[in-house]
Amino acid sequence: MSTTTKRGRFGIRAAIFTSVLLATLGAAQASAESLAIYAGKMFDSESGEILENRTIHVVDGRIESVQKGFAKRDREKLVDLRGYTVLPGLMDMHTHLVTEFGPRTYVERFTWNPADYALRGVDTAHRTLMAGFTTVRDLGDTGNVTVSLREAIGNGTVDGPRIFTSGKSIATTGGHADPTNGYRIDLMGQPGPVEGVVNGVASAREAVRQRYKDGADLIKITATGGVLSVAKSGQNPQFMKDELEAIVSTAKDYGFTVAVHAHGKEGMERAIRAGVDSIEHGTYMDGETIELMRRHGTWYVPTLLAGDWVTEKSRVEGFFPEIVRTKAATIGPLIRDTFAEAYRRGVKIAFGTDSGVSRHGDNAQEFALMVAAGMTPADALRSATWNAAELLQVQDQLGSISAGKHADIIAVAGDPLQDITQLERVRFIMKGGKIYKRPAAPRKATAGQ
Ligand SMILES: [Zn+2]
Repeated sequence: MSTTTKRGRFGIRAAIFTSVLLATLGAAQASAESLAIYAGKMFDSESGEILENRTIHVVDGRIESVQKGFAKRDREKLVDLRGYTVLPGLMDMHTHLVTEFGPRTYVERFTWNPADYALRGVDTAHRTLMAGFTTVRDLGDTGNVTVSLREAIGNGTVDGPRIFTSGKSIATTGGHADPTNGYRIDLMGQPGPVEGVVNGVASAREAVRQRYKDGADLIKITATGGVLSVAKSGQNPQFMKDELEAIVSTAKDYGFTVAVHAHGKEGMERAIRAGVDSIEHGTYMDGETIELMRRHGTWYVPTLLAGDWVTEKSRVEGFFPEIVRTKAATIGPLIRDTFAEAYRRGVKIAFGTDSGVSRHGDNAQEFALMVAAGMTPADALRSATWNAAELLQVQDQLGSISAGKHADIIAVAGDPLQDITQLERVRFIMKGGKIYKRPAAPRKATAGQ
């Protein structure tokens, strides 16, 4: 009854307001739903070639079609990138959004709550997106923060890349990513599969199933020692064959891929034989390991930026605990040569930085390192687009500017095949059809092209 009265009283005003609102919404929706991007140059991530003069039609956040020449439809809003090179959104296959390494990192785990990590994640996710990375594979967090972050980004609460996360990575007792390494004995406790620490087949299976319950998208394990953990070896094997096989077979049941942190040869080869999907870092792989990877179709995610970063910081007095510094100085510089050899011999390579070791937002610096080590710029770009989508098994959704895929599109000035560092200065960013960054101002030199 009171509703009727109110409608009577405010009827006219409400009607006017509503129609204005609808008109506004209508206009906003038309522009948001349907736009044309003029690309002076467009990187075709499938062929690795640059195509010229293309129009990309975007409808409802998806790429509807790509056509030759410049031809905007009447209802479409125009994004004029004729003076730029347009590329698929970049994809980083190795990040840690809730970590950002610094001199106080080793104290954080005693003082930070999950909320502190989550708030950091809001910042690092934003920086990652604004660096042109529209998708990340996050390989190890704390408190399942990246699962919540993935959801918050997905529903538009915060801005960030699409996240595919492993949640907490799985280690063995005392191994790399045992969260209590280096603790005082009475604090150390005995973390188990729920916390991501396993010993034996049964707990390996339980840990994978726990990740499923946690809402993870894939599994990450630490098959050998690592540089930044408070432990002696950076390369010893830390899983037995039966544990690896239990993880891989259980993961397959849940549709998970398995990403493997590995520096040492033995632990790496055990993991490859067990059928894992990717090797991260891969520092001490040799000719035999490379052959094994080729035979099994295993991906290599090199993380050159992390190698570079730890090498640099190992020279800073007091930056790392001594036990870590020694490993950083030894392992860091080797990754470049490993990468060069793996690339030369045709191992499948996907782009990954291990950001969280280095600063989030600097991800694109990996490209210059890859090119300096001998990779062609086109292959470096493919590793962060086409190949990354294949590793994630989402090639029908991401990884190229093609009809039907998400409209994750970036642009840089100039030709990135001539100057790969252009990727460090991304001028335009679109994710799912939403524009996050536009070129600063119309550039006279390029506007008339
Ligand atoms: Zn990592």
